[in-house]
Amino acid sequence: MVGNAVKIRDIGGQRGTRAQGWLKIGETPIDPIQIPVVIINGSRPGPTLCLTAGVHAAEYPGIDAVMRVAQTLDPAELTGSVVAVPVVNPPMFQRRSGFLSPIDGLNLNRTAPGRPDGTISEILAHVVLTEVISACEYHIDCHGGDLGEILWPYAGFSLTGDSDIDRRGEAIARLYSPNIVALYREGSPLPPTAGALTHQATRRGVVSLLAEAGSNGALDPADVEIHLTGIYNTLRHLGMLSGEPTVQGDRLRAVDQFVVSGCRGGLLRLKIQIGAPLAAGQEVAEICNVFGEVVEHVRAPRDGIARLIWNAKAVNTGDPIVKCWITEPT
Ligand SMILES: [Zn+2]
Repeated sequence: MVGNAVKIRDIGGQRGTRAQGWLKIGETPIDPIQIPVVIINGSRPGPTLCLTAGVHAAEYPGIDAVMRVAQTLDPAELTGSVVAVPVVNPPMFQRRSGFLSPIDGLNLNRTAPGRPDGTISEILAHVVLTEVISACEYHIDCHGGDLGEILWPYAGFSLTGDSDIDRRGEAIARLYSPNIVALYREGSPLPPTAGALTHQATRRGVVSLLAEAGSNGALDPADVEIHLTGIYNTLRHLGMLSGEPTVQGDRLRAVDQFVVSGCRGGLLRLKIQIGAPLAAGQEVAEICNVFGEVVEHVRAPRDGIARLIWNAKAVNTGDPIVKCWITEPT
């Protein structure tokens, strides 16, 4: 692979050029279903990096970041090749859907490795994994909090047991995330989960990172910047662009996670912020009934860091309120 310009179907294949086009996946009753692909083959041979976003297509900051990189990388300044898919899941993007495909009801990041003779999400997973991600040595899948989710940025990598791949994956995770690094081991509760594209890519020998920044259907420039910094850090770390990666502050390693939920239904008054360290016993929220009487004080069962806040303000018994990391220094 090293030395050859990347070509996928009829897109790319020439050094020193940018090419873009569509990969057809299937059809709706009236239109083709196809995914946009940009291939930037640098003027010199070198590492190959695949960037994907929009697997969950209401997670916009990663989509925006991959679009910006795809259109601004100069082939003359690039060593190696970048393959970019800014919107992996066009049916979701078109319908502004969260979590699940409006066509077959599947979560694309729980569907990998997919299959060529399945429904649209299964075919998508199969094509993206076998034709796009596997064309590269490295892969970053940009996500964020989906609709109704407020997320603290993190980077996750599925450890494989192959020390070379694991070393390279952890290095990129540390360079990408401003705060938290989650390293998944078999059977671990940490992301990425087994049906994730990144998890399946690592099992095919690709150094594949799950990169999360963004919240709640928004397009906050600060979240886009986290993805851009992570992507450019990776390009520099791999020697694909000149310059050194920039890293600020310490990283924490996630070792476990837990969810805090309430017993009562009503209006939720949140008492914490995303990224906040929580102490065991600390009040996370209060719930009042529809008369306005406070009926529950929800407390953290142990120490943790608020990593995902569900944005629902009207809650039922047992609805999740906040998911927390348990961490150690890395
Ligand atoms: Zn996602």
